[in-house]
Amino acid sequence: MLERMEDIIDPETIVAEFEALSNDAGRVQRETLKKILEENGETEYLQRWGLNGRTDPDSFKSFVPLATHTDLEPYIHRIADGENSSILTGKPITTISLSSGTTQGKPKFVPFNDELVEDTMKIYKTSYAFRNREYPIGNGKALQFIYGSKQFKTKGGLAAGTATTNIYLNAEFKKTMRAMQTPCCSPDEVIFGPEFHQSLYCHLLCGLIFRDQVQVVSSTFAHSIVHAFRTFEQLWEQLVNDIREGVLSSRITVPSIRTAMSKLLKPDPELANRIYNKCLGLSNWYGVIQELFPNTKYIYGIMTGSMEPYLIKLRHYAGGLPLLSADYGSSEGWIGANVNPKLPPELVTFAVLPDIGYFEFIPLKEDVHGLEHERQPIGLTEVTIGEEYEIIVTNFAGLYRYRLGDVVKVKGFHNSTPELQFICRRNLLLTINIDKNTEKDLQIAVEAAAKLLAEEKQEVVDFTSRVDSSTEPGHYVIFWEISGEPNDEILKECCNCLDKSFVDAGYVGSRKVKTIGPLELRIVRRGTFHKILDHFVGLGAAVSQFKTPRCVGHNNNNVLQILSSNVVKSYFSTAF
Ligand code: AMP
Repeated sequence: MLERMEDIIDPETIVAEFEALSNDAGRVQRETLKKILEENGETEYLQRWGLNGRTDPDSFKSFVPLATHTDLEPYIHRIADGENSSILTGKPITTISLSSGTTQGKPKFVPFNDELVEDTMKIYKTSYAFRNREYPIGNGKALQFIYGSKQFKTKGGLAAGTATTNIYLNAEFKKTMRAMQTPCCSPDEVIFGPEFHQSLYCHLLCGLIFRDQVQVVSSTFAHSIVHAFRTFEQLWEQLVNDIREGVLSSRITVPSIRTAMSKLLKPDPELANRIYNKCLGLSNWYGVIQELFPNTKYIYGIMTGSMEPYLIKLRHYAGGLPLLSADYGSSEGWIGANVNPKLPPELVTFAVLPDIGYFEFIPLKEDVHGLEHERQPIGLTEVTIGEEYEIIVTNFAGLYRYRLGDVVKVKGFHNSTPELQFICRRNLLLTINIDKNTEKDLQIAVEAAAKLLAEEKQEVVDFTSRVDSSTEPGHYVIFWEISGEPNDEILKECCNCLDKSFVDAGYVGSRKVKTIGPLELRIVRRGTFHKILDHFVGLGAAVSQFKTPRCVGHNNNNVLQILSSNVVKSYFSTAF
């Protein structure tokens, strides 16, 4: 369908708006806070802290305390249970989002409202405008690996679903995708199908049917794209066959998906042959995305943070296509847009949109004695380049001085708004005694050891970790799923390399004096991490928001059970 010119976004207008906002970020922040507090000052939550109509940053900080999700949970549950007084927001909340739950272990309820939809579209459009300057696209489609999760009603009758589902269901989402000339090539029945394996198969099939129109291949988090093409490697002949015959595989059993797909699928032996020959011509699937979708301009999705480990595989599948990393936000709200699309994903930063919330930053620098103690939060324009901070969010969706739990580093400024690099979740990942290793430390260790595997043309498909305290002393366990069958010698080297790569002084010291035992590398069967994904999806998590948990807590019995029942080999480090 051709878009009317007036419906299409004018990137230059959006860029100009953002330039104006970011030029005056300090003032915009004060105004945004004022607006949030004026709209919501009568709520039970803000009344409790006695703000009494004050809307300036100093009063806000001195009256309203920092809050975690645990502090807000009782309020959110009352909303979910149907109390419709102004609890957290002036306007009643009618929808609840479930955060992915893969970072925290269990899904959290957070408020969702129209303002969040508006912010989401604003972020999408802002980064699109900057992207489009560098990588312009014309009229076409996007192959989007997006999945709605099941929606349900809370006790009080509110609609509840994952944040991405709430967004995909909103009419504004489709409108914005059309305005950005990237409507999804799959019908809604596929996006919202009840069984994601079937949805994934049909996303691939729709992509192939519309292969010449596909301009962008995307997902929310890059994991979904890698997962999709790993699946393509397994199922490509079946997909080609469906196109040849014009008949959908019997593996698709959901009637609504079958009906929707039957409208798109017609026998097309010529297309089938072309795809078949492309696939046969590939070497180990290098460049498959570029070959299958020849008019693709770039690949788009969040590639930072816990998605970085998938970049090697994504680059392999992408061939020469650029990888453009998407924006920074969470179920709770958005923070920043990638306005430097040419940066490689490893260097991507997010320019904070100063009008979508009020942001504070807790400095995380250690003092001169090397001790980390908590400092007073500072404002958006007071941050220093090169420093790390925990980010605090106040927004139009009922969160006030909310600790999101993420650590960011200031890399620079876009006009007067900071450009943040995502570092990691703040909660410690691996710790036994005085050692402290975060998700980022684990990722660095895995990257170092994976290089040894790469020399053997093998790769780490996915990984996680845990602390094993059942031994005396306790030790770190790293789980790896790998492609191929490397020999024991290489894996022993990898195990030693992992142990040596945790350079935190507490860890190294404890290893030397043996108050932490040798690191253990456990190799799990192929497909183990798919089982973990299936497990989370079974609990209601959205595939679109899935992040492999990089550390499995001792009470996460189901995931531990999946891992331990699939271990095929284990190695202990001899590095110390
Ligand atoms: P969710 O629980 O699905 O709402 O996930 C939100 C979390 O995902 C954030 O708090 C971050 O930890 C992570 N996240 C979101 N966007 C990015 C990004 N662009 N880069 C790295 N991590 C991100």
